Amino acid sequence: MRPRRLPTLAVLVLSGMALAGGTTPAVAVPDDGLNVTSVACSEAPRELPINEFTDHRELGIELDRIERVSGGKVQVEQAGRSNRGREIYTARVGTGRKAVLLTSEIHGNEKTGTDAILDLLDWVGTSDSAKARKWRSELTIVAIPKMNPDGAELDRRGNDMTWQEVTARHPQLRGAQPAWNYYTTPRQGDDYAVRPGFDINRDYNPDLNYVPRKEDLPGHSAQTGWYLSPETSLVRDVYRGLTAEFGKVDTYVDLHHQGACFVMPDDPDEFVTLSISGKFVDDPATTPGLEKYARNYDLTYSKQLNVAVNNALQGAANNRPVFGNVTLYPQDTNLPGTGLGSFALNGSGTVLFEVRGQTQTLGQKHRAVLTRSVYIGLDGMLSAVASGQVRKLNPADYDRIPPRGPNVGTGAEEARVDF
Ligand SMILES: [Zn+2]
Repeated sequence: MRPRRLPTLAVLVLSGMALAGGTTPAVAVPDDGLNVTSVACSEAPRELPINEFTDHRELGIELDRIERVSGGKVQVEQAGRSNRGREIYTARVGTGRKAVLLTSEIHGNEKTGTDAILDLLDWVGTSDSAKARKWRSELTIVAIPKMNPDGAELDRRGNDMTWQEVTARHPQLRGAQPAWNYYTTPRQGDDYAVRPGFDINRDYNPDLNYVPRKEDLPGHSAQTGWYLSPETSLVRDVYRGLTAEFGKVDTYVDLHHQGACFVMPDDPDEFVTLSISGKFVDDPATTPGLEKYARNYDLTYSKQLNVAVNNALQGAANNRPVFGNVTLYPQDTNLPGTGLGSFALNGSGTVLFEVRGQTQTLGQKHRAVLTRSVYIGLDGMLSAVASGQVRKLNPADYDRIPPRGPNVGTGAEEARVDF
């Protein structure tokens, strides 16, 4: 049984009491009338420190270091540039026939994935263990950490791109209505009126050769995207290259964060550490326009990959219970314009990680443990893919992962945004 965690208010009161022996409490005890929940958790955006996360400059330095200490086992390339000209890197390790693509920070306020990828590359590139050798012989891992560096540097969800820049890049779109996922109003505490941008995780299309057409705009959430941004175009190019090289991309993982105040379905005092999912689109066999993808779509394999992630975290929970607070992300999303949706339609097994709390609600709080939860999930999944055990896991175990409980935070409407 999971030990119950005290609500934050109780912790504040207790820590105040513990320090009350003549010293000033480190934290103020809230006045009467303060709502417990509002103290416990809030989804309202605020400015919080993030300096412990890896920024764009540090990412380049760290990848360079990993390449060097790995003796060339990890190969780092500049695959392209963001709209504002920042480098976007790929890091490749392993010579196996199963291709695995990992991406992080498509939303620039969702940062643990980048640090988890760096930890993973460091280990698999330098370890001489049987496990690392097995990964390198069975897998070819290609990571694109911090794929939206402009959004990451601004510490916000969207990229940094105006509609005028889109039409300059794609002149055939002149006169079209801007895409529905173009942000020009404030959200999550960021003012897109001053500096517009796109939720680029709606910019993917399962047709890897798609060229943007005026008549496909402005589109909407249940439709495919267009590869308008240089960032998604780059990921598409990498995916297409791996498909040409390996026949298919075995596994695609995209690393995100969700609201800070979702709780376990059976325990309102336990926050969800991580929600996962393998389902992002309606069944293509019965979705007009997507029927041709039904033959390759493999929801069963995606479920098995997610079961591997969950099994690893439940194992780790024996030592640290917070790792066991895993739930299934809502299963009724239909977002074919996401990277996960588009690549699932191309036959990849797919996994969504949704770690607790974006930077506007948690900042770098819990950074180490949340990054570790991503690492543990990836580690377990990649081991299962490398050994082939993943194909023996029971996909029905996926449906037994508990659903996400309610969001108990104030301002919870701020958290009502999909991955
Ligand atoms: Zn996200």
